Amino acid sequence: MNIRRNDIVVKIRGREKGKQGKVLQMLLSKDRAIVEGLNLVTKHLRKSQDNPKGGITRKEASIALSNLMLFCPHCKKAVRVKRVIEGDKRVRKCKKCAQALDT
Ligand SMILES: [Zn+2]
Repeated sequence: MNIRRNDIVVKIRGREKGKQGKVLQMLLSKDRAIVEGLNLVTKHLRKSQDNPKGGITRKEASIALSNLMLFCPHCKKAVRVKRVIEGDKRVRKCKKCAQALDT
């Protein structure tokens, strides 16, 4: 898979097409990821000790990896990635500008 935790990705389909965010969590077994600020859902909280008033909160729901693409800070858009082996490391590079996308 080309996307990892802490990557900046862009949503390429759906209502939030074109929006970007940072990958907070990968759900590899489901081919989904949680991305900061994307695909927010409203959750109604029950009253609890932590949250005595209950209420409503916004929380990221997972997004299918097929709806995400890696963001290239150089091209400033979602790009395809190629994998290159440099020395003993696998490096991900933007297919357009060849900029390495691993930090
Ligand atoms: Zn690029």
